[in-house]
Amino acid sequence: MSAEKKLCYACNTELTLVSASFPMGSTFAHERFHADIYRCPQCGRVELFAAEMEENVICPVCGASHSPKEKCPVCAINAAFSNHAAQ
Ligand SMILES: [Zn+2]
Ligand SMILES: [Zn+2]
Repeated sequence: MSAEKKLCYACNTELTLVSASFPMGSTFAHERFHADIYRCPQCGRVELFAAEMEENVICPVCGASHSPKEKCPVCAINAAFSNHAAQ
């Protein structure tokens, strides 16, 4: 998370974040480019910034690789199933 403000090149208004780390291209592509999409509330100019590079993290529990911004999907499923079984 970067705290620095992005300013519109045209009117110097602070851009507002429309979509953070928006995946560009196919969902099925192995390596996707992520872009932060900003929009100027003043003039409507849209700017794309390359999202901060995120290396996938390896889950210490199950070894699956996943985005650091997401919880481990495998463990989430396992937790759901174990909760279910415990009832
Ligand atoms: Zn502007
Ligand atoms: Zn896991």
